[in-house]
Parts: sequence; C-alpha cells; structure tokens
Amino acid sequence: MATTRRDYYEVLGVPRNADERAIKTAFRRLARELHPDVSDHPEAQERFREAAEAYEVLSRAETRDLYDRFGHEGLRTGGFRPTDFDLGSLNDLFSAFFGDDFFGGLGARPGRRSARGADVLAEIELELGEAAKGVRRSVPFPAVVDCSTCRGSGAAPGTAPETCSRCDGTGRLQSVSNSFFGQVVRTQACPACGGLGEVVESPCPDCAGSGRITEERELEVEIPPGIHDGQRIRLSGKGHAGVLGGRSGDLYVLVHVRPDDRFVREGNDIVSAVDLTMTQAALGATLTVETLDGELALEFGPGTQPGELRVLKGKGMPVLQGRGRGDHRVLVNVAVPTHLTDEQRTLLEEFARSEHERNYGSDGGFFERLRSAFR
Ligand SMILES: [Zn+2]
Ligand SMILES: [Zn+2]
Repeated sequence: MATTRRDYYEVLGVPRNADERAIKTAFRRLARELHPDVSDHPEAQERFREAAEAYEVLSRAETRDLYDRFGHEGLRTGGFRPTDFDLGSLNDLFSAFFGDDFFGGLGARPGRRSARGADVLAEIELELGEAAKGVRRSVPFPAVVDCSTCRGSGAAPGTAPETCSRCDGTGRLQSVSNSFFGQVVRTQACPACGGLGEVVESPCPDCAGSGRITEERELEVEIPPGIHDGQRIRLSGKGHAGVLGGRSGDLYVLVHVRPDDRFVREGNDIVSAVDLTMTQAALGATLTVETLDGELALEFGPGTQPGELRVLKGKGMPVLQGRGRGDHRVLVNVAVPTHLTDEQRTLLEEFARSEHERNYGSDGGFFERLRSAFR
C-alpha cells in the first residue's frame, strides 16, 4: 500500500477536471511504463502502487468526489482503503479490466522468463592530469552470469529440476477475490517454486541453486580527454548477463576527478595562482608556472598588480569530444614580507619617505581584476 501522500491528479499527470477517459488513458500509460515486470526503475513497484491507488480513487465517482472535497483525509475518514495489489496477479487484473493481454503475455506463462540483465555501476578516480590527457584504466566490477557448473539450471550436476507438485508445473495458483474491478480470478505466483513451475531438489553447489553467480571482472576502459568529475561512461552490454537469452545490462563507469592542489578547473578552463614578491611585482621578474603541459616561464613586467590575470590561450582542459582546449588563467598574487631585518626595515622606511602617489597608477582596482579571473 502506498504510504506517500502525493496528489492523485499529480500522480496520474492529469488536470483536476480530467474526464473518465483521460484518467483511464493516463493510468494505462503509467501502468505500462511502471509495471515491475517491465520497468528497470528502482522505485517502479512503489510508483506503480501509487498510480494504481490514484486510479482506483479517481475512476470512481464516489471516491473522486470525496477526494476532491476533502483530500486524502476525507478518503480515510470515508472508510476508503486502497486495494493491496498482489503484483503477481496484476496482469490478470488488467486483462479483466482492459480486456486485452495488457503486458503482451509477460508473466502469463510459467517458467523463467527471458529478461534483460541489470546495469552495473563501477567507479574510478582520476588525477586532473589524467583527465586532461585521457587514459586507459582497468576497471574491476562484479557481474552476474549464468553458473557454468549447472548451465544456469540451478540443479546439481547429474540432476535436473523437477516439475513443481504444488502447481503442477504451471507456476501459478488461482484464487477468487474482490477488487474494485469486481470479482476477479486472481492468479498468484506459486510460492513453492516461485513461479518457475519447477523445483530444484539438489541445488548446484556452486550457485546454491540460483543458476547465477557473481563474477569479478575487469575491463580496460578508455577515458576520453576532457572528462569531467561526475560523468559516466556507458559500456553497452557489459553489465549483468541477461536471463534466458535476454540481452546483458550496461556497465556505467562513474568518473571522479580528484581535486588538484595547483589547479582549479572551471569548465574547460584552468585557473592557478602565481606568487610574486613585493619587489618582483614592482621591478618585474620572470617566474616559472605550472601548466597541464609542464612548466612554463612567464615574464612579468615592472608594476605587476595583485589580481592581474595572464591568460594562456589553449592551455586549459581539452574539450570533451570536441576540438581545441580551454584557457589557463594565471592569477597574480603579490606576497608581502612578514619578517624584516633591521636593515630592510630601514631601507623600506627610506623608500616610504620618498614614495609619491605618482608611483601608483589608477586602474579598475583589485576587485575588478579578481572578478575577471572568475568570470
Ligand atoms: Zn550452478
Ligand atoms: Zn509451483
């Protein structure tokens, strides 16, 4: 039973004045999308129940009227209890209601059904430099495959699964119950064999009778240059094996790019800082700065200001699956001495006495320069 309290109209995605037909169509569409037999969505089951409950309420005049006027609270005090769906019998309910084989026969026959394998998520961590150049990485991940000992049957070698006596191999048990569709024959998955129609008396020792085992795999994955932190690479068909010929799921490799001490990444651009001493800034100097391509000598003229920016065109990160590279912006910091000898103090005091406002230019100021560094 759904415990969430979302608005029923919102759940079905219909306006409050939707007619019976629109409500039915909306539910039908949602049901197809969310049915746990066909949806990979982790919350499919819960959302399906929610949609079913919304439909149950809005498809009947009495409950819809109660809900429209008093909301969820009105329904509860009005004695409404949503049908607790047994998912195993949903197909039969839908057939009874919609008059067709709603899910194309999925679940109608006994035995294991062909199904797509689930997706697998693996994670890797890269240095910024590796993200810049691109890298091949060996990625370990667990993948579920058919057990080779029993070839997926789950039965110990030399034995075979036997027909379930409880359901005579049909995999289903029928019961008659009441629901908002009226009286319906409900078919449940047989609890003795789990709907498979057969039981394994002596389970395979390697897979404990499940027919599937988890294998540790490793795959060489090509990480393209310019990849961003948090991006995922999809390797189609490399996930868990499908069941009975179903196609395999996908492998997703989630890429983490470790923060770098020297560089800050801004999209495809790189920002770093360079420290000039007070005298280097005043007199001019050549300094070595680190870039993604290694060290680079940069010349700074006399009167270099803190917050000044040097743009190294095309020295940033490569554009992922594109052409060219971003820029590297080098931000100037001017370091002021924290310790002075007596002699230095005297020299600086002498300098201060000769200082004139003509020594200093007037430009946009430090904050404006800084602003342009982080545009
Ligand atoms: Zn096995
Ligand atoms: Zn059975």
